[in-house]
Amino acid sequence: MKDKLIVVCGAGGFIGGHLVAALLQQGHTRIRAVDLKPLDRWYQKFPGVDNLSLDLQELPACRTATQGAHWVYNLAADMGGMGFIEKNKALCMLTVLINTHLLKAAREAGVARFFYASSACVYAHDKQTDPNVTGLVEADAYPAMPEDGYGWEKLFSERMCRHFTEDFGLVTRVARYHNVYGPHGTFDGGREKAPAAVCRKVIAAKLAGTREIEIWGDGHQTRSFMYIDDCLHGTQAIMRSENITFPINLGSEEKVSINQLVDLVESIAGVKLKRNYNLTAPKGVNGRNSENTLIRKMLCWEPSIALRTGMEKTYAWIHDQMKSGRSKDSVVNQS
Ligand code: NAD
Repeated sequence: MKDKLIVVCGAGGFIGGHLVAALLQQGHTRIRAVDLKPLDRWYQKFPGVDNLSLDLQELPACRTATQGAHWVYNLAADMGGMGFIEKNKALCMLTVLINTHLLKAAREAGVARFFYASSACVYAHDKQTDPNVTGLVEADAYPAMPEDGYGWEKLFSERMCRHFTEDFGLVTRVARYHNVYGPHGTFDGGREKAPAAVCRKVIAAKLAGTREIEIWGDGHQTRSFMYIDDCLHGTQAIMRSENITFPINLGSEEKVSINQLVDLVESIAGVKLKRNYNLTAPKGVNGRNSENTLIRKMLCWEPSIALRTGMEKTYAWIHDQMKSGRSKDSVVNQS
């Protein structure tokens, strides 16, 4: 496997950049990294990798990306946190072109295995109305009523993978990620998610001495958050598995409210801030958590890195970025 060509789509982004780093560390010698952004805006970039800037909504670009590929990971999407996906539903849905064209090109290229990064946003809305939600099991995606825009695109693309397997024999693997966080992710600019946004707000308040922060919603909404290392381990284990032929949850079961997340970041930062709740800001569903019975059974493993451990590392990285004046467009250029 180590000398077969692995393609990572969305490699200029958060999870894709970390996946390329992990593959290099594992000794893979042929990696192609693809992203829409120009190379100088990738979050992580590595020497010895075939780094390509391509628009994967276009079929010819997908053909270039998948040529000669053994395995393809599709992590490319026009996405962000609630602030982005609630206001950009058409852009989110246009991402359907990426997975559709990548599947077509992968089939033509004789790709052996194809990974698709789905999301907990596929789950039906009426299963997520209570902050004390019980974890979402895989079957809760149907009858379908996912997150408008982004969630519908994810659910449709999952099914596209399934039918490429059933009808054309292309082996596909699908993971439903639940909120992934860690260093080298977006923390400002409008696409950031709650863990990075809370870190940024607390750090900004601390650096400026303002001693107050804005929180979207009433702070009672609940989520679980998965540290990037667990995400990478799970993604690769699902990709390698011979038996996980259906979409599966990849998330932490450690459910917290947004208020508890803020408590945690305040304790890492050593501050206590006044909270201003913005009840008209996008806040998503009231409660969401992963239910990991299936992944425990299939892999004898589940994400387990404690939120505090992951948030300490994430906070430290964002703190460094902000203190040195870097923003979301800054690049960690490791070449
Ligand atoms: P990200 O935004 O950091 O990375 C996605 C990358 O895709 C970006 O670098 C972007 O430039 C690239 N991209 C967008 N349009 C493209 C195009 N037309 N052609 C080529 N590249 C394009 O996001 P991420 O957090 O790394 O997420 C990776 C995948 O995981 C996405 O599919 C996302 O929907 C999914 N996911 C992420 C989370 C999370 O919490 N981060 C949760 C659920 C699902």
